[in-house]
Amino acid sequence: MDLRTLTKEQLAASLRELQEHPSEANAEAIGRLQNVVQEIEVHRVELEMQNRALQETRHELEQSLSRYADLYENLPIGYIIVRPDGEIACANPAAVELLQVPRQQLIGRFFGTFLDPYDAGRFAAHLESCGQTGRPAQLELTLRLRDGATPTVQLSSRPATMSATEGKQVHVAITDISELKAAQRVLEEINREQEAFSYSISHDLRAPLVTISNYARIVLNDHKDDIDEESRGMLQRIESAAVRMEETLKNLLEYSTLARDEVVLQAVNVSEIIRDLLIEHRGIIQQSGAQISVEPSLPMVRGSRVILNQVLANLLTNALKYTPAGQAPRVHISGEVGERTVVLRVADEGIGIDPKFHERIFRIFERLHGYTRYPGSGIGLAIARRAVERMRGRIWVSSEPGKGSCFCIELPRA
Ligand code: ADP
Repeated sequence: MDLRTLTKEQLAASLRELQEHPSEANAEAIGRLQNVVQEIEVHRVELEMQNRALQETRHELEQSLSRYADLYENLPIGYIIVRPDGEIACANPAAVELLQVPRQQLIGRFFGTFLDPYDAGRFAAHLESCGQTGRPAQLELTLRLRDGATPTVQLSSRPATMSATEGKQVHVAITDISELKAAQRVLEEINREQEAFSYSISHDLRAPLVTISNYARIVLNDHKDDIDEESRGMLQRIESAAVRMEETLKNLLEYSTLARDEVVLQAVNVSEIIRDLLIEHRGIIQQSGAQISVEPSLPMVRGSRVILNQVLANLLTNALKYTPAGQAPRVHISGEVGERTVVLRVADEGIGIDPKFHERIFRIFERLHGYTRYPGSGIGLAIARRAVERMRGRIWVSSEPGKGSCFCIELPRA
């Protein structure tokens, strides 16, 4: 007989009986029985512990399930689960409200029926690509609702593998971004108006300024014997102020043109741009005794040659300009190829910039120095930032006062 098949009560009864009839043979049986009873006790304690742990886990699971259910039901964002063909399998109350259809009618309906044929095609392609790549994806669509409303929504879809029968379903969060879009349109309109305004101001003001500086120069040259020293000084100041303002307007025009004109991106040879810039700036380089080193064969980037030329020219002239008095500028131009991007660096050993101004200097008209010591209009870096952003890149500086500056431009690889 296998003692392990007996219940605890049966074992206790057998043990009692054996103990009531002591004999040598029974003594061995009593020992075996006591061992089995002990083993069973240990198992019982273990089982109780496991049971307690299981109950705790179940309780935690129930709590977390109720938390998620609560979140799903009360989420202010529409949430639906769709089958690969676009049929809605699940929808939370926010989705029901957004789509204006009772939940029981929504389940089994195709999401494409809320869209026009063009968007329905885009949605089908979106679902297919989500399922194929297994990666989350986003899509902006316009819903066509029963009451005639056409809200713009942003879909954030995430594929989820379900049971074999359900196939690959996609979880879709639907956010109504109509108000955001309307605000964006207003902002774009304001921006366009501002750009048009600054464009026409800088364009129209240049002509009278040129007239002022030209006439001042003519009087200074052709009538120098007819005017006294004081008047000559005043005329010279008029001329140089007009020239300075003309330069500012030219830069402002460049800045607003950058926002208006279309930018065509293509492979650009940076080494060629630098070579041409060094020739163009030969005069100032020789005059200042600058030492410029350029890394051989800089990496190619994807951008616009004209715009990148503008950016690098601004960085180069700044690197030559912002040096302590009496010191010859030293500039090093280099490039580094990353996985998808290239970082170009224009580093100088000049006066440097306090880190608290690293962002500010890229804003229009922000200057850290007086015009007499370092002339300029405060637009060069604003042009550089806008230009780089139009080429889908970014620009930043790392620098400390007295330790030179390194301006970095990150652009897509060619
Ligand atoms: P501008 O040089 O015409 O004043 P920028 O927009 O090119 O205008 O530069 C803005 C400000 O940033 C400059 O006035 C200067 O204070 C600072 N700056 C730019 N480049 C450098 C540099 N290489 N070293 C130190 N300061 C710089």
